[in-house]
Amino acid sequence: MIVYKSALELVQHLQSQTQQIHFVPTMGALHEGHMSLIDKANEAGGLTICSIFVNPTQFNNASDLQHYPRTIEMDIERLISHQCDVLYLPNVDDIYPNGTEYALDIDISQHNSILEGSFRPGHFEGVVKVVDRFLEIIKPNAIYLGEKDLQQIKVITHLVELKHPHIEIVPCPTLRETDGLAKSSRNQRLSIEERQIAPLIFKTLSDIIQQKNIKPFSELQKTAIDNLTDAGFKVDYLTLVDVEEWKEIDDFSQNKMSLLIAAYIGEVRLIDNILF
Ligand code: AMP
Repeated sequence: MIVYKSALELVQHLQSQTQQIHFVPTMGALHEGHMSLIDKANEAGGLTICSIFVNPTQFNNASDLQHYPRTIEMDIERLISHQCDVLYLPNVDDIYPNGTEYALDIDISQHNSILEGSFRPGHFEGVVKVVDRFLEIIKPNAIYLGEKDLQQIKVITHLVELKHPHIEIVPCPTLRETDGLAKSSRNQRLSIEERQIAPLIFKTLSDIIQQKNIKPFSELQKTAIDNLTDAGFKVDYLTLVDVEEWKEIDDFSQNKMSLLIAAYIGEVRLIDNILF
């Protein structure tokens, strides 16, 4: 695996390649969920390139940015063992040569008004900034994204349609621990006690979907939020979305839906969703 820290050197390397480029953006602290994206990119053949960059512009909370886990030595070992070809490890100046304070040239207001957009002001601006810059530098044929961050896939799809229409988006299913907890870099921050109750997030979503033909969504939603709160969670949202329209709905009437949740356990905010 070749590691590049500068965009200039990376671009020179990529220009000398004739293979298709498959890109997996990450913020590091890599786990098997990330690795499933690398494996999927490898399956396509061509060149697999992973980026590790803890993007400051997508953190709306300074403490979250400060405490975000960083495990670069282990990440590199993992990537080598999964036959990743190139690792791009930029610094902030490489990604934001003119600073981080500039206006987006696309409208993402539809996303800013719901779910992660409304609970994390500025988050998706940061995501769009960093991904747009990566796509400009790397010019991949395909980008691999995890369905755990479902709204992020929607926002990046919007960016790609408007500014990089030839790039394919490959959504990848959420990898979970055996107890159902979605694998996440943030899980490392959970205490032993918090880790023990964390699987209740996925169990709650699964239980709601199991009962979708028995009780109205509003009732299931209220009971679930009450139960999670009693168990010690602080729920930002637990909501049902029409995936095609990307709108919140209040019954199980659509063909392609997702049940999404964001909740704090102590200081740690976790998200999850089930597509059905
Ligand atoms: P992150 O490092 O959290 O920015 O994640 C990088 C990519 O890995 C994103 O596309 C995530 O959606 C994806 N990802 C994170 N966790 C998982 C998981 N448990 N299963 C599959 N993909 C994941």
